[in-house]
Amino acid sequence: MPCYRCGARQTDPIRGASPWKRGVREERQVLVCPDCQETTEWAAALDQCAACRSASLVCRLGEIECRDCGHVRTAEPGGDTLVASGGTPGLSEEVEAALGRVLRRRGATT
Ligand SMILES: [Zn+2]
Ligand SMILES: [Zn+2]
Repeated sequence: MPCYRCGARQTDPIRGASPWKRGVREERQVLVCPDCQETTEWAAALDQCAACRSASLVCRLGEIECRDCGHVRTAEPGGDTLVASGGTPGLSEEVEAALGRVLRRRGATT
């Protein structure tokens, strides 16, 4: 997952904790690279904990948890809903078959 702000790719830390920070933005988990953490506005663009205003949030299983105070809230459903496949499969074929029967019958009566 690249940095949400500059798009930099995360490099695997050799050991220990990654210097990248996790956060939540528009109900999605995002990562912030060390460079962007040096800016002042990076946290303001992220969702903040309703209890302590921390931007250290983790999004998982429809919940957003604050890593600083442990406050948990339910993630709001975003615009990320699955697009339903259009129409019922096979319906147009059925209509065509019915039309075909009507046309054949009409042709037979004349
Ligand atoms: Zn960045
Ligand atoms: Zn908190």
